[in-house]
Amino acid sequence: MITLEDLRRINARCIHCRACQYAYSGEPDREGETEEYTGMLQGCPAGIYFGWEGYYNSGKQWMARAFLNGEIKPSKELLEVVEACTTCGMCETQCPNYIETVAVTEALRAAVIEAGVEPLSKHKKFGEMVHDDKMRNPYKEPRDQRTAWFGGEVDNFDAKVAYFVGCTGAYRQQHIAEHTASILKKLGIDFTVLTGEVCCGSPILRTGQRDVFREVMEMNLELFKDFDMLVFSCAGCYKTIRNDYPKMSGKPLPFKVRHTVELVYDFIKEGKLKIETPFDKKVTWHDPCHSVRHVGLAIEKEILAQSDNWLMDSRKAEKAKEAHFEVPRVVLRAIPGLELREMYRIKGDSFCCGAGGGVKAQFPDMALATAKERLKEAASTGAEILMTSCPFCVTNFNDGLKSLRAEEAETGQDLSAVGSKLEVVELLELLDKLL
Ligand code: SF4
Ligand code: SF4
Repeated sequence: MITLEDLRRINARCIHCRACQYAYSGEPDREGETEEYTGMLQGCPAGIYFGWEGYYNSGKQWMARAFLNGEIKPSKELLEVVEACTTCGMCETQCPNYIETVAVTEALRAAVIEAGVEPLSKHKKFGEMVHDDKMRNPYKEPRDQRTAWFGGEVDNFDAKVAYFVGCTGAYRQQHIAEHTASILKKLGIDFTVLTGEVCCGSPILRTGQRDVFREVMEMNLELFKDFDMLVFSCAGCYKTIRNDYPKMSGKPLPFKVRHTVELVYDFIKEGKLKIETPFDKKVTWHDPCHSVRHVGLAIEKEILAQSDNWLMDSRKAEKAKEAHFEVPRVVLRAIPGLELREMYRIKGDSFCCGAGGGVKAQFPDMALATAKERLKEAASTGAEILMTSCPFCVTNFNDGLKSLRAEEAETGQDLSAVGSKLEVVELLELLDKLL
């Protein structure tokens, strides 16, 4: 496991310039469609909501340094500030000094907890449920019901591909799991789902509870080790297994990984798939932080880690990252009739939905305010549909919509300009209907 001490030199690069507080921090003259969405915009959900330095990444980096130097002590108050962060990674994209900001924040959370401070109340409950052998999920659901949604053959270890469903698909948004399984069948992929799958550990790792994370990581790595490929529908599971398992286990993954949207992209690019059914709607796309930004950043770092000439390879790495950001857009453009209307903050600069990093459970007001900020941005494009591919983004946006509509009903005001008339659609759900 990478500790805060291991990240001391990375954290030491922080010069407190505060570029990480903005989207498009390197492009002050950037032109948007409207005056509101133009130039550098605030980009940190925690800083925007709480409004003072400690909540922005720039403050967190300095708290991490002070903690490392023994200048601040572990405390519940410190943990409450550092846990109020969606781990969205907007700050990481902005930092001119290549600081792995999210890794530092997550390691600081873990260090505070390892020093004896109890995890925050909701986070502690996640940890207990994921540690419990009868559950192994943060929803308090029985472990033996994990694959109850699936009509096909489970535990087929002869299949080459396994679909890692994740706790949300297995217990809360089973329609997403069903649509994913249906897409895989339509693509002719021989796959299975496993009854022994357990939580990927994302909410546990993000909130600093590393002992429990290690347990579930090792269980999953052992269970899936002989498959050629793992396919995902959940952005959080995908990022955790793709990016965090190798770092935290110290070993490369024994299987390939692909998100279902990427798999559909592969089929389109190879000319094996053509979407014929039209979808005549104006759509704006929300990049899930975990499957788009974090994976894009990881692709860039992986290329640079292999490089003995950063100058030559940085362009190649940048191009590979940008190509990853294009993946959902290529899929959307392959849908006849769909009119893509981009928001201002997209790709590496995409504004978070507000749900990740344990925030939705522990800081619901921050999560809701952030969802509404993004809904407003989506509405500014004139789109009818806000599309994404992450169960948490979908839930949080729908909560934002509910709140806007309740406000409309109560006040009689028309809030369509800030998003009350939008519809939130999961891309996988749409693809299953169109294929
Ligand atoms: S993390 Fe990077 S962008 Fe943020 S204050 Fe430090 S050096 Fe500046
Ligand atoms: S990861 Fe996101 S929420 Fe956390 S400090 Fe960075 S920009 Fe703010």
